Amino acid sequence: MLSPKESVRAVPAYHPPLAGRDGLRLDFNENTVGCSPRVLEKLQRLTADDLTKYPERHAVETAVAGFLKVKAAETLLTNGVDEAIHLLCQTYLGPGDDVLIVAPTYSMYRIYGMAAGANVISVPLGKNFGFPVTELKQRVTSRTRLIAIANPNNPTGTVATCDQLLELVRAAPNAAVLVDEAYVEFYGQTMIEYRSDSANLFVARTFSKAYGMAGLRVGVLIGNPEQMSAVRLVCSPYNVNAVALASVPEAIRDQSYLAEYVGGVLEARGRLQNWLVLSGIEFWRSEANFVLLRVGSSKADSARFVEKMRLRGILVRDRSSDHGCEGCVRITLGPGEHADRLLEALPSVIEECSIAQGVSRR
Ligand code: PMP
Repeated sequence: MLSPKESVRAVPAYHPPLAGRDGLRLDFNENTVGCSPRVLEKLQRLTADDLTKYPERHAVETAVAGFLKVKAAETLLTNGVDEAIHLLCQTYLGPGDDVLIVAPTYSMYRIYGMAAGANVISVPLGKNFGFPVTELKQRVTSRTRLIAIANPNNPTGTVATCDQLLELVRAAPNAAVLVDEAYVEFYGQTMIEYRSDSANLFVARTFSKAYGMAGLRVGVLIGNPEQMSAVRLVCSPYNVNAVALASVPEAIRDQSYLAEYVGGVLEARGRLQNWLVLSGIEFWRSEANFVLLRVGSSKADSARFVEKMRLRGILVRDRSSDHGCEGCVRITLGPGEHADRLLEALPSVIEECSIAQGVSRR
């Protein structure tokens, strides 16, 4: 009987709750408003001719490289950051190699790492979800071939400093170190400038979050040109579709739209965090477009909270099953009216949940 290879049989199934997402979607860290109108206009102008041809990535790749102030040879457009992670696993990992990640973090590092036959070693974040640079460095051996760090991290919203990441890059010269900057627009600090001194450093970016194009699937992988030539060997020449490629130049041209959206989210993040402080609710200061907060002590508590929010038309994500996140939910922020709706619903939902848990609150 046909059986998947052993490394794939060991991969845990990952089914994010994507079905029936009607309401205010504060559950997947997407842009809550939508992409730039310039992108939509471009899509309406596409012709059959544009779709009949295989997509040609190079010109758009060069434009994105110019926008990021890096060379085209250092840049690869991918089918979302997810494909970038997959390609790094295909390029560098074999059976018996080690992948280092932190816990909790984004799920796909583990999934692709395991599928490639590697051992995934996960190092818990420190106190207050601090970045465990010393512990990570202690786990680096000659078998370590990939270290994947989301910065800011998902689901905690916490960050590692550039110095900590550089320390790690230097401590593991035989490993590809991926700094996944999916949320960089809400944070502002990047590792891109360090790529010339560190041949093993890779940076990933996405159009799925701040740019509001998660449905189009476009990511960017940036790294040393020689390493990138190896990554290109395992990448399909047609990995990013023509519709997505047509959208990207419009998206990067409309920086004022992006800046306005990011400004609105940062304001919303400030409002939510201030409210959480005043309400005495445990949360972690976030540098991303979401905040992780503790609404109880168990999965039952967080599930109750998610359901009560859903009944008010707001979707948020239960993160109780993540390491160290018992009773936690992650709430994505949207600007203006989206933040108003969230902050209107929260007090009564928290109150109802506290009553159900027998907790008294101010
Ligand atoms: N990296 C991180 C840290 C994420 O949180 C996500 C989305 N949840 C991704 C990558 C996936 O990005 P993309 O849509 O570009 O594949």
